Amino acid sequence: MTICTETSSRITNLECSVCGAPHSAFKLQRVSVCHGMPLIARYDLLDPLPKTSINLGEASMWRYRELLPLLEDENRVSLGEGFTPIIALQNLASRYNLRSLVLKDEGKNPTGSFKARGLSMAISKAKELGVQGCIVPTAGNAGVAMAAYCAKAGMRAVVAMPRHTPKAFKEECYWYGAEVQLIDGLINDCAAWVRETNADGHLLDVSTLKEPYRIEGKKTMGYEIAEQLGWHLPDVLLYPAGGGTGLIGIWKAFREMQALGWLPADVKLPRMVAVQAENCQPLVETFLGRQANSQQYNGKPTIANGLAVPRPLGEPLMLNVLHESQGTAVSISEDEMLEGMRELGKQEGLFVAPEGAAVWMAARKLLASGWLSADEQILLLNTGSGQKYLENVEGRYDQ
Ligand SMILES: *Cc1c(COP(=O)(O)O)cnc(C)c1O
Repeated sequence: MTICTETSSRITNLECSVCGAPHSAFKLQRVSVCHGMPLIARYDLLDPLPKTSINLGEASMWRYRELLPLLEDENRVSLGEGFTPIIALQNLASRYNLRSLVLKDEGKNPTGSFKARGLSMAISKAKELGVQGCIVPTAGNAGVAMAAYCAKAGMRAVVAMPRHTPKAFKEECYWYGAEVQLIDGLINDCAAWVRETNADGHLLDVSTLKEPYRIEGKKTMGYEIAEQLGWHLPDVLLYPAGGGTGLIGIWKAFREMQALGWLPADVKLPRMVAVQAENCQPLVETFLGRQANSQQYNGKPTIANGLAVPRPLGEPLMLNVLHESQGTAVSISEDEMLEGMRELGKQEGLFVAPEGAAVWMAARKLLASGWLSADEQILLLNTGSGQKYLENVEGRYDQ
């Protein structure tokens, strides 16, 4: 079927992330038919697209509309996601003698995390392709975001989350009208329930990287970082990696901007750091060569719920980013995350998610080991607000 449409999207097709086999970008797709692995959206980047194509009046991720996969604007399901601020952390910079330390605050997104970007994009595409309902296994934030965007789109929403997830995540899903299934275990156990419940595929499974468009929403962080920093990228970017959509998406954005000529020809892309929780650090283990891959890895719960992803489907793609960027992978303990939350709270007035605190503590570790130097430009990605995590952290501000 050919869809005839007035579109300003530059999307051309989808590619299997393993072998590059093309798949149509104009019908409903999940993973690649050849390898059962993530599909990556490709755009026409050769035809010149000036930076003036950015819609400056649109203070959301939709300002990069032509580099997003949506064909018809009327299908956009938006709550104002993206274009979050980059904040200078002067107090911590002077305390640690750092030349440049900034934080992109994704906690300011609708539903309180950067999951809003990916789910706005995925649910918009689902609407465009006639989907009636969606299902997702989640560590918390993805379920909340999916519930909100499905509500806005008038779709059914089914969310499976670990029983131990803080109450605020569950409550918010209920208030958006989602059906919530609580599961004993971690996100991979939720995923098993989703596979069983949705064996006939009557709902669209928007699990991380099991459909091609969440990554396209999350890549807008990469475009924003470049635009907000005057098309000059930081030396090092630290990111809390669970399923890895953001890490993969930001790197994809950097590559797209290089192809478009939006970055200086001699640009040095940032070294990308994946930060995990000691309780669940599959990527760190594989990166350090302690296991061939994470397919048998068992993780434990962590106060950084978003990092409890023991067997990420996108592991090979994340490892590529770390290798191509000459980056690294670091893990952080539960106590260290609390210390990071205290520091960002008391020094900078930011109540970040434990995931965001982990990223700051990883920067400290890498400074101490000499991998990072104090005169480099450091960008921390805080992926969520601390407000939903109260049961994990309450009362621990004073230690
Ligand atoms: C989901 C989540 C992460 C991990 O993001 P991925 O894209 O799955 O790597 C990090 N932080 C928070 C707050 C999250 O909700």
